[in-house]
Amino acid sequence: VDLDDQARMIRETVARFVRQELLPLEQGVLQRMARGIEPALAPEHRTRLEALTRELGLDALDAPEEMGGLDLPAAVMAGVYEEMGRSCVPFRLPPGSPNLYMALAAGSEAQKAKYLPGYRAGTLKGAIAISEPGAGGDPAAMLTRAVRDGDQWVINGRKIWISFADSADFIIVMARVGEGRREEGITAFIVDRGTPGFIVEREIAMIGDRNTFELLFDDCRVPADAILGKIGEGYGPMQLRFERRRLEIGSSAVGHAQRALDMLCEHALQRTTFGVRLADRQAIQWWIADTATRLHAARLMIADAAGRIDRGEDARNEVGMIKVFAAELAYATVDHAMQTLGALGMTRETALYPLWQSARLMRIYEGPSEVHRQAIARRVLKGYS
Ligand SMILES: Cc1cc2nc3c(=O)[nH]c(=O)nc-3n(C[C@H](O)[C@H](O)[C@H](O)COP(=O)(O)OP(=O)(O)OC[C@H]3O[C@@H](n4cnc5c(N)ncnc54)[C@H](O)[C@@H]3O)c2cc1C
Repeated sequence: VDLDDQARMIRETVARFVRQELLPLEQGVLQRMARGIEPALAPEHRTRLEALTRELGLDALDAPEEMGGLDLPAAVMAGVYEEMGRSCVPFRLPPGSPNLYMALAAGSEAQKAKYLPGYRAGTLKGAIAISEPGAGGDPAAMLTRAVRDGDQWVINGRKIWISFADSADFIIVMARVGEGRREEGITAFIVDRGTPGFIVEREIAMIGDRNTFELLFDDCRVPADAILGKIGEGYGPMQLRFERRRLEIGSSAVGHAQRALDMLCEHALQRTTFGVRLADRQAIQWWIADTATRLHAARLMIADAAGRIDRGEDARNEVGMIKVFAAELAYATVDHAMQTLGALGMTRETALYPLWQSARLMRIYEGPSEVHRQAIARRVLKGYS
């Protein structure tokens, strides 16, 4: 099977999964969210969906073949994330690949043997702790330190906004080794749950029916081989993780925007005000035209960046552009769809509300839009200096 056929088949399977399995669950999820019942996706549905993804072979799409995965290229994964992004059901195809990529790129053979099989099987969950109270959009300002003591490292510091920290079996913690400044000395450590001195201090309720955690590392001792990669070289694998994750966010933002555009168009075609269909109003048509144009541009940008990643080229700039462009496109499109639906768009009975919250989060996590713009502008300006 050539790549195009394989890509089409996988994408169709995921699209069918979304249509037949996720969309029918949306009303239940929306009702639970509105009534504050946690989790929004009922546990029995999650269990069934997880089993189904395994049955359909959708559970390790980009894991390497030796781990029983399909090792799909970024170009195919982008289509998968876009399809998944159409639904507001909080379900992701396992495993969480960005951490997997970081571990694969930087992990020792012993670490790969310890963590990857369980990760692949979905029985081991990972999280990553980069952000701190004083260092979020600018992670190079981090203060968390690791100091060598005999055959151990002692980690001290505070991390915040960490997703999945309560349920993760291991957490990749970025800490500074030595006296270096900015990126110098930043090192990745794998810390297992239950390690003394690794304290989940506080759960923080976020919008979008999510939560994050504040973590304290208080003389947290880990063995010398807990380093992921090399001392002082934590930034490289972290960047690799960012590329994958930002492409995933961009593609899923395109899914959000497409779903919102579908809802906008369907409503505009059947709703009449002042004797005229909304679909025949120029105000609405321009939203549709601009969104369709930007969606086309976003998909081309994603295809280009995915190609670069698959060829092993540096895609940092392109992926940063996608992160900004697609997240803002998703947010604006959901907003236009909400406006077009009128009061119905203000209810908690359509997918627009959770998609709106999700798109809002996308403009912050994995780097706020302004920080990406700064990085893009710096690269452009370099060409003139
Ligand atoms: C739902 C969610 C999940 C998260 N999960 C994780 C996780 O698992 N692990 C983890 O490590 N982190 C996680 N984060 C943290 C996230 O990566 C940071 O919140 C993000 O990088 C922004 O950092 P900050 O909140 O400190 O904002 P700051 O860095 O303080 O920035 C605040 C605002 O200032 C402005 N700003 C900042 N810098 C510039 C600039 N150079 N130019 C112009 N304007 C600027 C921007 O508008 C920005 O939004 C998560 C965040 C959220 C919301």
